Amino acid sequence: DRIVSAAPLDEDSLFELKLRPTRLAEFIGQSKAKEQLAIALEAAKSRGEALDHVLLFGPPGLGKTTLATIIANEMGVGFQQTSGPALMIQGDLTAILSNIKDKQVLFLDEVHRLQPVLQEKLYTALEDYSLDIMIGSGPAARTFVLDIKPFTFVAATTRPGLLSSPMRARFGILLRLEFYTDDELRFIVERSAEVLGVPIDRDGAAEIAMRSRGTPRIANRLLRRVRDYAQVRAAGVIDRETANAALEMLEVDAHGFDELDRRLLRTIIEKYDGGPVGLNTLAAALAEEQDALEEVYEPFLIQIGFLDRTPRGRVATRLAYEHLGLEMPRKMSL
Ligand code: ATP
Repeated sequence: DRIVSAAPLDEDSLFELKLRPTRLAEFIGQSKAKEQLAIALEAAKSRGEALDHVLLFGPPGLGKTTLATIIANEMGVGFQQTSGPALMIQGDLTAILSNIKDKQVLFLDEVHRLQPVLQEKLYTALEDYSLDIMIGSGPAARTFVLDIKPFTFVAATTRPGLLSSPMRARFGILLRLEFYTDDELRFIVERSAEVLGVPIDRDGAAEIAMRSRGTPRIANRLLRRVRDYAQVRAAGVIDRETANAALEMLEVDAHGFDELDRRLLRTIIEKYDGGPVGLNTLAAALAEEQDALEEVYEPFLIQIGFLDRTPRGRVATRLAYEHLGLEMPRKMSL
């Protein structure tokens, strides 16, 4: 398990519940998405209607689940959570939809992994709050229409491009989550430290923020690890020196890179002359899964300009060469 993975690890679940902001005002950063959402929430509340369906998209760990719970809290309605892969058969979907409470939030994580037949069932439910149910089979089969209470469907995905266009058309509110700035992450670390009762100064929080790859989930995880170190080695207080020493021990460098990031960049540079190299070739060379590379590892490297995604494959940039202390061949200065 990578300590700087944006995907959730087992150790996160308990703390994520504790550290999750519950109201929009406590949610740090994402100003564009927040403003769009605040207006939609206020308008829906003043009309006394369910909020329009919401699609949240962006890399893992940026707060999609958090925002979904905040929507339910702000609307003062119930919240129910499931995920694309968890719904296997039509009966799973029917069971959930037939139990929907008025105006509640139904949150579906990894919507791009929902089976196509279930996606189609969902279209009508989202469009006119009804569901066709087939009973029996063959000539004796009969359908009847089940009315569903108006509700808000909040779907999250790391891969919006994989959604069918009819599915995309069902969402009135599209919110793209971006990587956080170092300042925003520092606020998040300071807030989390307060919740956990960990003494931390501004520089200590900044040091953790800088190495968190723009991702609150990673910031919170690093904070917990640094807290342990501080308890044993520094009387429990996190300042810059303690944070630095702890993160160095954990082998998380100044950019929040770990061994896998360095191996990925080094492989492109040394094995494939800096690229372009196709995703599947790269995944095989690293013995990693293609999806994980594309959804979890690459987005941050691309965001900070160390990696380029071109139609012919992945390319290491000048920054990657410089970071690894390697010389960039002149033929391909980017
Ligand atoms: P995934 O899609 O991988 O499940 P996610 O985008 O749903 O990830 P969350 O589970 O919402 O991510 O957030 C991960 C953790 O980061 C949570 O514990 C939450 O406390 C924290 N977090 C996320 N966004 C914020 C924020 N804006 N302010 C404070 N904490 C945040």
